Amino acid sequence: MNRLDVLFINPGNHQEIYQGLANKYSAIETPTWALLLAQSCRSVGYKVGILDVNAEGLTLEQATQKIGEKNPRLICFVGYGQNPNAGTVSMGGIVKLAKALKESGISTPVAVVGSYVQSLPIKTLEEEPSIDIVFTNEGVYALHHLLKEDVSDPRAWENVKGIGYRKDGKPHLNLPSPVVPQEKMDTDLPGYAWDLLPFRNKPFDLYRAPMWHASYIEENRSPYAAIYTSLGCSFRCSFCMINIINRNDNAEVGVASNYSSMRFWSPEFIIQEFDKLAAMGVRTLRISDEMFLLNQKYYVPLCKLLKERPYGKELNMWAYSRVDTARKPENLKLVREAGIRWLCLGIESSDKKIRLQATKGSFEDVDIRDVIKRVHDADIEVMANYLFGLPGDDFKTMQRTLDTSKELCTLAWNAYAVMALPGSQLYKEALDQGVDLPQEYTEFSFHSYNTKPLPTEHLQASEILKFRDQAWLDYHRYLPFLEKVEQKHGLAARKNIEEMTQVQLHRKICEN
Ligand code: SF4
Repeated sequence: MNRLDVLFINPGNHQEIYQGLANKYSAIETPTWALLLAQSCRSVGYKVGILDVNAEGLTLEQATQKIGEKNPRLICFVGYGQNPNAGTVSMGGIVKLAKALKESGISTPVAVVGSYVQSLPIKTLEEEPSIDIVFTNEGVYALHHLLKEDVSDPRAWENVKGIGYRKDGKPHLNLPSPVVPQEKMDTDLPGYAWDLLPFRNKPFDLYRAPMWHASYIEENRSPYAAIYTSLGCSFRCSFCMINIINRNDNAEVGVASNYSSMRFWSPEFIIQEFDKLAAMGVRTLRISDEMFLLNQKYYVPLCKLLKERPYGKELNMWAYSRVDTARKPENLKLVREAGIRWLCLGIESSDKKIRLQATKGSFEDVDIRDVIKRVHDADIEVMANYLFGLPGDDFKTMQRTLDTSKELCTLAWNAYAVMALPGSQLYKEALDQGVDLPQEYTEFSFHSYNTKPLPTEHLQASEILKFRDQAWLDYHRYLPFLEKVEQKHGLAARKNIEEMTQVQLHRKICEN
């Protein structure tokens, strides 16, 4: 049998990232970029595999053994995930396993692609001796090029654009590589290698939706998959690092807002991926696009195709929208008919000044109450997202945001304490200003014990975090919310939420 050219590894350190939420409540997503890269490399003739350490719940020893048995020419960790911070927090799992591989005597080169290494390639190579190669953007062309060479010989890395490695013991970045251009999306990123995912009894049963997406009912959570129909975002919010994926330079520190752009698969192409998932029994899906409801030229034809599919009526999907593009009733009707039952809206703050400053004026100022009403009128539920600790926030503005969220009383609610995520403008500014930034990867996790959010000019990080955790509890114990859930999804759903609020997150910075 031919040797595997590359094994893509989705790392796992779920427990450290989510604490008590890991066992039952956190979502487990299909590893989108491992699937895209695997399919892309396979389409140009390479033999590929995927090891999902997270979904399979493998220990370090088990993962090391499996990788050793597969004996690929290149080991490629893929560090992205279901939250914007996931690329950074996944580095904890990547480094632990990479070290274990080296210690076990496996000499295959270890590469990493993901948002953290895209943002900080030099720092990664300086601090992580177990990582041999980093990709400075999404890595599609660099991988194709690298696999053409004798990967085991570091001299062969010198001509590969879009990678970094240690040369004469020092971190070195080759010339940058382009990302896949819009006109080549269907051919150079030709879909997802779904067939390579592990499963227990039936496809996709190791993956599970967030509780809210499943109407808070455990049995509705699997099988589950996540899919992008576009990449990137046209905006430049200061706290966001999403666009680091589009990086096309080799500056020492990458800043996402320098590379904001969107690329789309054609609706006729991407619908085939939905067809494949439907044929494998998946009806519960996340459309992971950063801004699905933005460009009507793409989402309207895709929704029309989905609406006509025989499985269309059975779909339960969620997608992101800007608050100012989720307003046209005819589009909302179409979106609902396409099987999108939830829209995830980034409301961020009820304070207009704070919101507009953080989103760099990206959004038209809209009446959020009106938007939510229109979405609800189209029979679509809302997952409302808020941020606490944005520049300018103090206790009063955070309380107003919480009060507004209760007034809106959406069927799903989440909030994060703002963090300077590597790759964001906020991170670069904090670095330049000498702010005390997280040193450990898990300090970047929103849910971890040692999480370390950013202070504001008025509030310490611990004050923001305490407020966020209490606000999460307040909302999920808020009677009008619980009654609404019970009315819509039944008593079992309400009980599951009440049970979920018993899980206590421990926070190091709040202990003193
Ligand atoms: S609109 Fe959303 S995805 Fe786009 S830059 Fe802002 S936070 Fe990031």
